[in-house]
Amino acid sequence: MAEKNVELDLSQILPKKIIVRLKENQFLCETCQGLSLILSKNSTQGDGFNTCHLCAGRGYFEKCNFCGELKDWRTFHNCQGVQENLKNNRNQKTEEKWDKAKKITYAEACKSLEMVNIDDEFLPVSETLDFIALLWAHRGEKVIPKVWGVKKVSISLCAEDIIELELEDLCEDVFVQPKDIEDLQAFLDEWCNRPSVRDSTTCYFRDEKLGIVITEEEVEKRFNELAVEQAQFDIKQGDGFDADSICCEKTNIPNIGRGAYSYCVSSSD
Ligand SMILES: [Zn+2]
Ligand SMILES: [Zn+2]
Repeated sequence: MAEKNVELDLSQILPKKIIVRLKENQFLCETCQGLSLILSKNSTQGDGFNTCHLCAGRGYFEKCNFCGELKDWRTFHNCQGVQENLKNNRNQKTEEKWDKAKKITYAEACKSLEMVNIDDEFLPVSETLDFIALLWAHRGEKVIPKVWGVKKVSISLCAEDIIELELEDLCEDVFVQPKDIEDLQAFLDEWCNRPSVRDSTTCYFRDEKLGIVITEEEVEKRFNELAVEQAQFDIKQGDGFDADSICCEKTNIPNIGRGAYSYCVSSSD
């Protein structure tokens, strides 16, 4: 088919000026002059506008508020300042949740909970103090991490939902008697409660509505007990009491993290 060139008079179509609003740390892209588009001449389609890929179609560049460098929009700017800021935001959110959470003491937690959550770890409530004591030994400082409650959830099945789903493909006027729904629910509950089913489908989730307040005294008491146990273990192993096996390098906190206890404590972050 024959082709012809049609001339567009841009001055008739585009306004003479447009306003681009920039923040203090933003600068117009020198390539597209802030238009976000660049003109490509004489392609097979004639002339046309393409997205400016240098500024990724934004029309501007931006200096990082943390390191002052110009951000390259084609990659995620991830300088140390950005990383720290992300971490602070996360910490702040955690603090807010902690403030709102209902608080119980460790003694109360021992009576009412099976598991607790600390960072990414889920552990039996009875091992909470051991875990924190080891954290102290590992980090060389006395920090009390946030200890959260844990929700334990395993499979549950709803008779009404199952029946409703199965009735969808049948005639409109069919139904199941309430008594028969109840019977099915009783059977489903019993099935879900079988230890083999329950145990293999149990999941633990952090309960951010419940915080367990651990005191420094509680950890310190356990810490000292563990240090004694470790020293006794070392003697049994023939290690004896040398300074290196009892104390961490930088502190006078006994080195209870090695040997008899096999907890996995992530390195300080
Ligand atoms: Zn541009
Ligand atoms: Zn930066």
